[in-house]
Amino acid sequence: MSTSPLAPIVGLDSRVPIVTPDTSAGAGAAPRTVRYANLDYAASAPALAAVAEAVTRALPLYASVHRGAGYLSQVSTALYEASRTAIGTFVGARTDDVVVITRNTTDALNLLAGCVPEGGTVLVLDLEHHANLLPWQRSAGGADVLALRPTVAETLRTLTSALATRNYTLLAVTGASNVTGEALPIDDVVELAHAAGVRVVVDGAQLLPHRAFSLASSGADYVTLSGHKLYAPYGAGALVGRRDWLDAGRPYLAGGGAVTNVTASSTTWEPAPQRHEGGSPNVIGALALGVAARELTAIGDDALRAHDAELRTRLVAGLEELDGVRTVALWSDSAEAVGEPVGVVTFALPGHDPGLVAAYLSAEHGVGVRDGRFCAHPLLSRLDLDAGALRASIGLGTTADDVDRLLAGVRAYLDEGP
Ligand code: PLP
Repeated sequence: MSTSPLAPIVGLDSRVPIVTPDTSAGAGAAPRTVRYANLDYAASAPALAAVAEAVTRALPLYASVHRGAGYLSQVSTALYEASRTAIGTFVGARTDDVVVITRNTTDALNLLAGCVPEGGTVLVLDLEHHANLLPWQRSAGGADVLALRPTVAETLRTLTSALATRNYTLLAVTGASNVTGEALPIDDVVELAHAAGVRVVVDGAQLLPHRAFSLASSGADYVTLSGHKLYAPYGAGALVGRRDWLDAGRPYLAGGGAVTNVTASSTTWEPAPQRHEGGSPNVIGALALGVAARELTAIGDDALRAHDAELRTRLVAGLEELDGVRTVALWSDSAEAVGEPVGVVTFALPGHDPGLVAAYLSAEHGVGVRDGRFCAHPLLSRLDLDAGALRASIGLGTTADDVDRLLAGVRAYLDEGP
């Protein structure tokens, strides 16, 4: 490894088989293995060691949350509620904001879609991940999808005009694109939405693993996140934000724990967050997410940015040096307008099937990237990438060596083919 990761991560030294034979080992030798170069953090990030340790410590302790009087129930309830507080702190929640623990970002956005006031319409841009598009499209008031413009400045102007043309209720915007890592300036977006009387939800799935974010200082009304992109295992995420819609909205999961009283003919629902958290909660998932949130805060925004910037620059420069590679950007002015994008880079090898290239990188080089349309079909279509592309993404455990191995693999593919 050429640099150390920012924090200990479980399985970072995993070795994976590759098909290239070791010619010195003779016939019948075991498959060669190499250290896995994981460049797919944007899909899911491996667990931080601190998360794994906390989960291991908590496993013997968990018991029924909120309902049991026994000691272990009290411990579990305290752990669960402490995680809720940690998640709120992580996203700079205001004192009257609510933290609803969900399964992931998709769950959180669907939950919010059920709480948008009756008939409310939603505005989205056409760069969104399907999780931040489909819940709005099928909500009662529906969604308008606005096309991006070639620069951030023009996109903000288009957004301002759109907000003036219709009485929107909510603007749903990503904190960072899962395709290019680029973002709109959230503070400015919030300001212009609020000037039009429109609330803002920030899809934080890709932003929060890379940057500090604060609801209080950005003024955004809601933010959503996924634990598995924040170095905690699957199964826990959150929706954090303004209480009024969440208290009034349709309970997301009807069941035990979400109610104060039930008769044969009527139900009195709890206020949020319990209103939306029916059933036995994912205590261990929430605990893991809470620990990851604290660890990321301890690493700090400066260190996250520096790590990202160094490796992203290396990756983009290396790809741009290769003939036959097209890197993708949404806006010509994003670095000046918003700063360095987060460490997510999409590229294509025109004329080559991205699935085949990704399979080659894995099988021959032990490099893991994502291929396809990244659950962002409208955006890939507008980028003229209906056949899909490749995405390399950087996380806390990524090293310069990982980036160089990807570049060497792409170069070898272009030189020699699969
Ligand atoms: N939003 C963005 C920007 C994403 O990148 C993703 C996942 O890749 C999601 C939402 C959905 O996250 P999840 O699958 O954890 O619900």
